[in-house]
Amino acid sequence: MLQLDVFIFKKNILELALKRLIFAENYQVSFMSKLVIVGTVAFDAIETPFGKTDKILGGAATYIGLSASQFNVDSSIVSIAGGDFPQDYLDLLSSKNIDISGIEIVKEGKTFFWSGRYHNDMNSRDTLVTELNTLADFNPIVPESYRDAEIVMLGNLHPLVQQSVLNQMTTKPKLVVLDTMNFWMDCALEDLHNVIKNVDVITINDEEARQLTGEYSLVVAARKIHDMGPKYVVIKKGEHGALLFHNDNVFYAPALPLEAVFDPTGAGDTFAGGFAGYLAKTGDTSFENMKNAVIYGSTLASFCVEKFGTERMQDLSSEEVLKRLLQFKQLTQFEIVLNDNL
Ligand code: AMP
Repeated sequence: MLQLDVFIFKKNILELALKRLIFAENYQVSFMSKLVIVGTVAFDAIETPFGKTDKILGGAATYIGLSASQFNVDSSIVSIAGGDFPQDYLDLLSSKNIDISGIEIVKEGKTFFWSGRYHNDMNSRDTLVTELNTLADFNPIVPESYRDAEIVMLGNLHPLVQQSVLNQMTTKPKLVVLDTMNFWMDCALEDLHNVIKNVDVITINDEEARQLTGEYSLVVAARKIHDMGPKYVVIKKGEHGALLFHNDNVFYAPALPLEAVFDPTGAGDTFAGGFAGYLAKTGDTSFENMKNAVIYGSTLASFCVEKFGTERMQDLSSEEVLKRLLQFKQLTQFEIVLNDNL
């Protein structure tokens, strides 16, 4: 009799666990959001103290897309390239389940080209060349099936292009994230201010936050950016991690100390892709969940810098990501007993 009871008890536990699993699966599926990514697909030529590349695959949207693809979300890249953009690069994006129907190919045009040289500290760089090429006349078209996407990631591009993507959304997105850089502050500041008003989150590096606000203190800079529109401000500090500001709340995630840093290009975009991809996957855009999104973004960016260009992100496995997340947890977790007599 007792044996039968134990058997029934075990069977019930098993069924309950199975139901929970199925519920968790459904929960994830039903809340998963679509992600629209706008940004450059590009040729980059990079110089670091470790070496130099010819024209290789680059672009903000490329890095964002590869990073977000880790979450298996439905994502679509809206961009433009010339006839010189290799089919292999497009195939790579498609192989990651990224919808590329929003990438316009101008057969007789040339792809956006950027070249940069890193200083010895690898934290700062000089832009050597920016050739807009087809990007100069880019009129983005969001694919019909993505105009109701819940998450929009406005990658580094002309602010008018970013705004045009927002204007095409038929339903108000749950979250709009914007990334930008000094180049657009220098040549399209007013347009940038206009689009910033319409976004929920801005991701920006420390130097650019200072340029945008004229403030040295990042706390004051974040407050000023809040006043421009975004409710959440993420300030990326390269090898010194990232800060997330929301009203008076601040969250800080360090960057994982790495043995090998070869090329920081695209780390910021990879961070943004991980951040937006995680929020799309979970469908939860609360401040608490954004902290996790920052951790995922930082973790993915830590891989990006280990090889030149997009190489490391191209065949990154989920096991590797999980392992590094655990390292991240160990790095930042501590138990401290707080009392009067230390
Ligand atoms: P990050 O290192 O995160 O700033 O991103 C580097 C990527 O941004 C490179 O792959 C470039 O192709 C791209 N990029 C550089 N300058 C620009 C620009 N002015 N507008 C859009 N994308 C750019």
